[in-house]
Amino acid sequence: MTLRSDPPAPSRVPHPQTVAITAGRERDASSLAPVLWPTSTFHAPSIAESAKRGRTPRSTDFYSRLGNPSVQSFADAVAELEGAEAGLAFSSGMGAISSVVMALCSQGGHVVAQRQLFTSTSLLFQLVCPRFGIEVTLVDVADTAAMIAAVRPGQTQLLFVETPANPTMEVADLAALGAVRGPLKVVDSTFGTPLLQRPIDHGFDVVIHSATKALSGHNDATIGVALGDEDVIDQIWGYSAIHGACASPFDAWNGIRGLRTLGVRLERQNATAGELARRLELIGAITAVHYPGLESHPQHDIVRTQMSGGGGCLSFDLAGGRSAAMAFVDALELVRLAPSLGGPETLVNHPASMTHAQLPPEDREELGITEGLLRLSIGLEHLDDIWCDVETALRAAASATD
Ligand SMILES: *Cc1c(COP(=O)(O)O)cnc(C)c1O
Repeated sequence: MTLRSDPPAPSRVPHPQTVAITAGRERDASSLAPVLWPTSTFHAPSIAESAKRGRTPRSTDFYSRLGNPSVQSFADAVAELEGAEAGLAFSSGMGAISSVVMALCSQGGHVVAQRQLFTSTSLLFQLVCPRFGIEVTLVDVADTAAMIAAVRPGQTQLLFVETPANPTMEVADLAALGAVRGPLKVVDSTFGTPLLQRPIDHGFDVVIHSATKALSGHNDATIGVALGDEDVIDQIWGYSAIHGACASPFDAWNGIRGLRTLGVRLERQNATAGELARRLELIGAITAVHYPGLESHPQHDIVRTQMSGGGGCLSFDLAGGRSAAMAFVDALELVRLAPSLGGPETLVNHPASMTHAQLPPEDREELGITEGLLRLSIGLEHLDDIWCDVETALRAAASATD
């Protein structure tokens, strides 16, 4: 009988949690901490050299709207985590989404997008794209066959999904949609993060993140990022240098600081969110809990094939409607009322009156965004403390109904 087993054979391929600590840091020389380059411009030794830098996509030594070392370090780090050739950072998640759509679509073109979208993305597709002669077809992402059938050969320029979707956590079937030929396949993977899912491995062309959320992870950076093959990222850069939604070096620097702890933060947030989701499912006054990690998630089979964790966000529907939601939020003490997600603090959001208030009521109803729906973004506090707060608030909500 042996008392000690041999240690497992070492894996030569570093895990993403390890990659996140060092990725994108080639420009930092011997500084162990990330280096901040606040400069807006760079001097060059000759006109020829300056001209060359100005023409080179994502060059980091010409002018910071066209590229900056701190900003590119952040984008390179996320590209490495996504298994992408190249990355480009933007002033926000919406800066990334708007720049990608405007860079890759043109008048007379067509976009197929899922109906369940982040509100500003939805408004971009419904209000802005038509003004530029770009037609958009919105489809329920749970109906993969309908998404594929909506693609028009020769006309559809983009197939756009967001997975898991905010706030009701529908997921897009990445393998089935990644196999579609013709349009460029673009995914907003903010809720997934590259540690939970890697859409490029499933055939997607461009991955976008609102890095304002879990990637930066501390609610102190507003920044977006797009990842993909070098040629498509260069094409996006050609447009974005004109559009000018470039990321701030300071936010990118905060972003790199955040990325290095992404692994441990997600581990804790996934574990706490999963446990809370299971507890909330047992509460009678809650009619539905939306969380990708639950067996009861309507697309759990797809989740299992493409995600390694349920993520840090969940939403639930209070049977008592708006009055119950108001009573719940009012009774919270630890959990604070704010939009956004992925930070150290647990946050609650009432989508119907906050993040999704700009949508017409009939759209909200179709998307399942009821008056009783609340979204929790789980932070890094101890599970017992979050549960104590939530449980007290549920008791306060139980006596309130519309
Ligand atoms: C927050 C968010 C965005 C927008 O990102 P900003 O950084 O706020 O511009 C886009 N998509 C999803 C899924 C988001 O959560």
